[in-house]
Amino acid sequence: MRAALARLDRGPYPGYKGLRGTWDLDAVTLFIDHVQGDPFAAPSRVRVRLPRAEQGALDPALDAESRARRVALGDFLARRGARAVERYARRGQGSGKSGEVRIDEPGQEVLERSACRVADEWVELRLSAGLPAAGRSILGREAATLLTETLPAIAWEALRLTTAEELTAARRHLDTVEDARALRAQLAERGLVAFVADGAILPRVSGVSQRPLVGAVPFASPPGLRVELRVPHAGTVAGMGVPEGLTVIVGGGFHGKSTLLSAIARGPYEHIPGDGREQVVARADATVIRAEDGRRVAGVNISPFIGALPSGGDTARFSTENASGSTSQAANIVEALEAGCRTLIMDEDTCATNFLIRDARMRRLVPTEHEPITPFVDRVRDLRAGLGVSTILVLGGSGDYLGVADTVIWMDAYRPREVTARAHAIAAEDGAPAPSASQPFAAPPARIPDPTSVSAERRGRDRVRARGTEEIAFGGEEIDLRAVEQIVDPSQTRAIGDLLAYAVARGILDGRRTIAEILAALDAALDRAGLDLLAERPDEHPGDLARPRMLEVAAALNRLRTLRVVTSDK
Ligand code: ADP
Ligand code: MG
Repeated sequence: MRAALARLDRGPYPGYKGLRGTWDLDAVTLFIDHVQGDPFAAPSRVRVRLPRAEQGALDPALDAESRARRVALGDFLARRGARAVERYARRGQGSGKSGEVRIDEPGQEVLERSACRVADEWVELRLSAGLPAAGRSILGREAATLLTETLPAIAWEALRLTTAEELTAARRHLDTVEDARALRAQLAERGLVAFVADGAILPRVSGVSQRPLVGAVPFASPPGLRVELRVPHAGTVAGMGVPEGLTVIVGGGFHGKSTLLSAIARGPYEHIPGDGREQVVARADATVIRAEDGRRVAGVNISPFIGALPSGGDTARFSTENASGSTSQAANIVEALEAGCRTLIMDEDTCATNFLIRDARMRRLVPTEHEPITPFVDRVRDLRAGLGVSTILVLGGSGDYLGVADTVIWMDAYRPREVTARAHAIAAEDGAPAPSASQPFAAPPARIPDPTSVSAERRGRDRVRARGTEEIAFGGEEIDLRAVEQIVDPSQTRAIGDLLAYAVARGILDGRRTIAEILAALDAALDRAGLDLLAERPDEHPGDLARPRMLEVAAALNRLRTLRVVTSDK
């Protein structure tokens, strides 16, 4: 390596291309997968690998046979990688990105991600590094320091676990993840859709930070909803079980309703020790539904919620370039059901009022036959009876749901109280009209996307780029994901864009498969090959990716403005 770099020194930058390949640097193996075209381009992609045997006195408890433990160990090592990068990587002198080293640092959630891979025989960090240049000529000596000293030092520092403290921290990380999975795995058999452990810290520092709020009131379950679950490491965990059916969370403004709901919305993911939500879990399919006016909709059957429109539009195959609050919310529900969701999460703060309710006075003034919207309150029982759908709904301002709710939770100064019986009594006293018994709720008809309408290509090349968690540039289109709240990491956004491109390129999205079939095929491929599936060539740095849920992959596809679908007769 040093000899090669001495030869390249002061030469033109593309000379670096010759470094592509595998380099043995004592215990550490360096892979140079992709070399940047010039000093200002996106940095080069490299990997550093250490044999498991060199990892130090590895605790047998860290032998990560299960996928969950492997993902958790990879996450733990990636975080150590980020700290090592901070310590060792000094941005060198030189032009452009010279000497810059980066690793994709995880946030509060523990996700399967490409930044660290744990295999049977080795562990590997995936980084990006700016190969040094003066102007556009190679700085051989600086490159030698970066590649033969800095990167191996980062690998050594991050991947070896030798002290008792390091091993304890690693074990705690893995155990926390495994316990959360065990909690989630018990929800269905206990008839629950979510669980919030006593002592959990739910509020976050701010709207832009997912770190726990210091000094928050810890969660305490109300007696009526308290359950105890057993997990492999922490033993017995007590907390609030949110039952199947319709759960309405009520309470005055600023009493913590939305905070509780947001924590549950992140419950399909595991959290790191110290997050406060380590033992807050929800069913893996729990999906936040909101109004999203302006979104495009392609051939979705929203007729269970929206009947004949004054414009004469067909709501059984509803398409629009510019949905209203209520039609967008109806489409969001039907699309989520199509993608496999059976647990809905809604907050009045982000819902269309006319979609949620129509009060008694309005029902008298505007007769039903003049109102295309069947509000959710009239459909929620059919949804449960027909499809087994549960709903968790925050509603501070309307009592219309009290009569139909299976469970009512009152948030009072951040403390939940169970008030179901009282809510039912009030609803009965008022003689609140029983919700109109309507038709059973059928599964939405499956849609088949047309592959020619899902193109990652722009000007002859594939273009898939993510901007934070909010947008994907896909071919000539921008996919707006601002309303898709459960994308929790920018690396998931990148993976979603890559997965859509992959589905088309590999003929998974083939004009015959339904959306549900495409999602199942993608998920199975990820189970088999992990995120490395999305690398350009096998056994290469696939970029900075984290595994998304298939529900969010579907959400992105549904928001692609070129999407065309046909309804399946399967
Ligand atoms: P609501 O939806 O009922 O109006 P929010 O959930 O938005 O209320 O919470 C209002 C404020 O209270 C937020 O700033 C939130 O961070 C804070 N908060 C929520 N739960 C707690 C808690 N357990 N301890 C301390 N502060 C909290
Ligand atoms: Mg709120």
